[in-house]
Amino acid sequence: MLQWENIFASRASRMKASEIRELLKLLERPDIISFAGGIPDPALFPAEKVSAAYAKIMNGGAASSALQYSVSEGYRPLREWLVGEMAKIGIPCTVDNILITSGSQQVLDYLGKLFLSPGDTALVTWPTYFGALQAFNAYEPVYDRLIPMGNRTPEDYQRQAAAVRDGGRVKFAYVTADFSNPTGETLSRQARLHLLDLAAEMDIAVIEDAAYQSLRYDGEPVLPILALDIARNGGDIENTRTLYSGSFSKTLAPGLRVGFVVAAKPVIRKLVLVKQAADLHSSTINQMAIAEVVPDIFEEQVAKIRTAYRARRDLLLAALEKHMPQGVRWTRPEGGMFVWVTLPEGLDGAALLARSLETEKVAFVPGQAFHADGSGANTLRLSFSCASPDMIEEGMARLGRLLRSVILD
Ligand code: PMP
Repeated sequence: MLQWENIFASRASRMKASEIRELLKLLERPDIISFAGGIPDPALFPAEKVSAAYAKIMNGGAASSALQYSVSEGYRPLREWLVGEMAKIGIPCTVDNILITSGSQQVLDYLGKLFLSPGDTALVTWPTYFGALQAFNAYEPVYDRLIPMGNRTPEDYQRQAAAVRDGGRVKFAYVTADFSNPTGETLSRQARLHLLDLAAEMDIAVIEDAAYQSLRYDGEPVLPILALDIARNGGDIENTRTLYSGSFSKTLAPGLRVGFVVAAKPVIRKLVLVKQAADLHSSTINQMAIAEVVPDIFEEQVAKIRTAYRARRDLLLAALEKHMPQGVRWTRPEGGMFVWVTLPEGLDGAALLARSLETEKVAFVPGQAFHADGSGANTLRLSFSCASPDMIEEGMARLGRLLRSVILD
């Protein structure tokens, strides 16, 4: 029998099953209170509006174009609408600066494909979005920790110089600047400007993952990194080094699989070629349906999601305050879907999960998988997007009880 491993490419060795995706299956078990899956609440999907849009497209004379192949760049009316949305957040651009993709996960894959040769370095935060590591891994990079300007030591510079000597080169820094997955934290304007300084000094690109950017519940919005980059460079997106990755998954519905990337034209033109080779274009009908609904419902839809998730975040933070024992710390996100918990040193999130599932029936994601260097064993991610008030109170009471017993052990 053929030993498949013998003929897999070297990159396949870094493709491993995700602990997180395995955990998603637990959501289906009714006896588990789960804070694990980082998925939107389906009760908030604009199902009727989307359904009406499909009916209009299919019955109103657009069926043949909706079912036909279309351009790799993406459905033009959708890109036109995005130009208006980008302008609202300080990103003046044209349709030629936008490529529509099949979810923003595809943006990450394409950027890995476009920038990373084996041995090149990608700078990521510790922790970072696990799916970004999964996307980049296929291109066999080395990861180094993204360290803010001013905090970098001579060793950091030496390590990066050594990576270059080994034949690779540092290519980009990847960040989720707003309400990150997994920590929920947001980079300040100052941190974003420092990141741009660092990128300029190293002459690398910045990938700004904006998957959660619209989901702000309080505090002042911070300008996107791309907006700051444009403002610094004469107001012209063509002079920038930032690639802005956006998504309709958290605002409309992830099953539509539509995302986009905004950047200077030369890199978009190259990404169009990457897309042509990979899947020709994203679903025509899904792009048309989105273009049909967004002018009418986008603002109200985002407002609805914000109200619902804000209340869940507040309940989760209050329940953590009430139930967590001393020594446990957590983030207080101004938006997004996640709270990041740091346990006392020496505790292990994965071991805690095993015990929690057995004795307390509460699920969360252990934090280690989000760390490119395998650190972060004493961390965990809680997702509040699908949590009901009862579930939050009961879940945190159980987790608190378990942690107290573990800490006292
Ligand atoms: N980036 C981040 C930070 C995410 O959390 C996710 C989804 N979990 C994605 C990108 C990918 O989302 P999608 O492909 O649905 O746009």
